[in-house]
Amino acid sequence: MGTCRGALALILAVVEAGGALGAVPAARPRASRMMTGMAAGPNPAGLAVSPEPRIDGLIAPSLLVPRPTLTQAALALSGESEAGRALPGVARLSEAPRPENPDSKSAESGKDAAEAEFLHRAGLGAAAAAAVEVPDSPASDYLLGLADQTRRTFARHFPLFHREFPLTVAHSGRTDTDMINASHDVSPYGKSRMHHIVLLEKMPPGKSNERELAPTAFSADDLPSPLNRAVRRGLARILTFFHEYAHGVFHEIIPSISRGFILPEEDGIRINAETALNEGFAVMLELLLVDKMLSRPGDFGLGPEEIEDARSWKAQRLRDMRHARNHYTQGTFYFIHKIYKQEGEAGLLKFLEDLDTQRLYELATHDLPFRLLEGRPELFKAYLTNSGDQATRAAVDALADYLAGADAPEQDLDRLRDILKRVDVSALARLLNPLVKTSVTRCDPSLCARLIARIARLSQDTAKRLADACHLNI
Ligand SMILES: [Zn+2]
Repeated sequence: MGTCRGALALILAVVEAGGALGAVPAARPRASRMMTGMAAGPNPAGLAVSPEPRIDGLIAPSLLVPRPTLTQAALALSGESEAGRALPGVARLSEAPRPENPDSKSAESGKDAAEAEFLHRAGLGAAAAAAVEVPDSPASDYLLGLADQTRRTFARHFPLFHREFPLTVAHSGRTDTDMINASHDVSPYGKSRMHHIVLLEKMPPGKSNERELAPTAFSADDLPSPLNRAVRRGLARILTFFHEYAHGVFHEIIPSISRGFILPEEDGIRINAETALNEGFAVMLELLLVDKMLSRPGDFGLGPEEIEDARSWKAQRLRDMRHARNHYTQGTFYFIHKIYKQEGEAGLLKFLEDLDTQRLYELATHDLPFRLLEGRPELFKAYLTNSGDQATRAAVDALADYLAGADAPEQDLDRLRDILKRVDVSALARLLNPLVKTSVTRCDPSLCARLIARIARLSQDTAKRLADACHLNI
């Protein structure tokens, strides 16, 4: 990233994180980055007026989805495995191999050392160790059943995204809320490494408490029903576990990073594009599953109460993303759903298989190029994939540099104009809104004027539309 672009990105990061360094959330360990819930990211008032992200109607246009072939009995809510059915690849907790010790002398190669460092930084060593130390219990049987059920759901309803990989599952009661949450972790180095899913719930999950009600991770007490409606734990576990498993699928589909690649340090402000797309993919599949449940509840063994639960879940998830405007919102609304809507599951799979994974780790969601790509599949396919068009990539970078204050000689302006035409004005408006609405004590308002002036130099029309979108008089 160029210095200028980085500087504006940092400014935007601070503005969007609350405007003052004191308000920046504390660094979170990587181990919690894939939480289903929306703990990450404040919701600065300045973002509240940006154009509403919309997903039209049901998220699943069923015509685009291959019809599943139902070959087995309906899924039960209990999550129990079918009797005698093997569960290849899912390790019983007591049988799962111990993770590599970061201090171990066996970490000989650079790759192993980097991976050990990653595990150490993420605190994953400890989490994984806890997972393998959990003795066999009714909860672990229940969780293995849930994993089995999740795999069968993928195989039956999302065959293109059905992947199996080594997995440990565990329950953690270390939570202060009645909500159900979960995390997924895997080393970013290489495929088919051990994945870890931890279900966070106060009491051990089991069949006996499936019908108890629990608030979702996206509800809020001050919201009207159904946006604060509690749902049955059995359904919440199915959707939560499915979401976390989808993170594993995403990891297995995208290209591996190379052996020598060192992951950029995480700092609690920057969220990388890999995380945003990963969340977008998991949320998208989770909502597609809800749509399938709602359209064919009998296939999932859902009664009237669970149907209402599923409906509430989707409404709450969508409201939460519209409100939070964080990387879940970005990844889901502006990237994964956009491409899914255009090209269906097959196009989405092709996009994921072609991703430039290292670039995703290096690019932050606050970086200007990432923001310019939002909502435009032809741009983000060019910028984020291995087969992407190099000229388009370079032009996006050049436009980002220019918008951040770099000089642009007259002969470069046509190239910048061409790429600006392809950028979504709504994406520019989201970029501008925090500068417009944030109080002057937290932001230099001249940044906004300079940005508009720079855009006007390229296109008066775009500048005008942008000002209109932000309710500005220019
Ligand atoms: Zn997630």
